[in-house]
Amino acid sequence: MIVYLRFYEELNDFLPRARRKKEFTREIPETTSVKDLIEGCGVPHTEVDLILVNGESVDFSRKVRDGDRVSVYPVFESLDISGAIRLQQRPLRNPRLLADVNLGKLARYLRMAGLDTAYRNDATDPELIEQMQREDRALLTRDRRLLMHAAVEKGYLVRSDQPTEQLEEVVHRFDLYSVLDPFSRCIHCNHKLNQVEKDAIRERLLPLTERYVDEFAQCPHCHKVYWSGSHRRRLDRKVKELLGVD
Ligand SMILES: [Zn+2]
Repeated sequence: MIVYLRFYEELNDFLPRARRKKEFTREIPETTSVKDLIEGCGVPHTEVDLILVNGESVDFSRKVRDGDRVSVYPVFESLDISGAIRLQQRPLRNPRLLADVNLGKLARYLRMAGLDTAYRNDATDPELIEQMQREDRALLTRDRRLLMHAAVEKGYLVRSDQPTEQLEEVVHRFDLYSVLDPFSRCIHCNHKLNQVEKDAIRERLLPLTERYVDEFAQCPHCHKVYWSGSHRRRLDRKVKELLGVD
């Protein structure tokens, strides 16, 4: 059977040039779901927020019928689609993230922003999927095929290769502005920091820090000590702006 498809806005980035920004046809077997139809065109379902079939809003499980006209939209900022079925959570209700192996710098920035971000530089794809499910995390990756895995419910395809821009993308996409809590989390192991008395860590401080700094926090897991300025100083201006710190 034949269906008619059109993708909107940035979803066109996933398509070959000849299919961008216009209607095209696709021949598919019967009982294909809308989700399989869309991913068969190279667009991960995590990027899709609204699907109209013949003008009606549907969810991913809707079976496609011969002659259907399918319009596919990304996560919108401003379009009023109240009444329609939105397919992505935004803002993320439970902002727990999982970064793919090549997003180490992004993971550090997200932790710096106070966001719970799991990361390992040696995780295999099956291990990532397993951890994502077990800990109910949203998967961040630059690998669109990974997002097409059937188990992925929440995820985001990171576009930029610049960590500062990646941070901005993720915060924006999941609308995390209100839950940012800069410098509350260990950037090495993701644990929440505890306040610690200066006397308890005094012998570990450099002389100038010992003299001029009075408030400290410590990671309960790796015991690294943090203080105001210890990782602010070298932060990119863009990250500071986003986190609302100077
Ligand atoms: Zn730590």
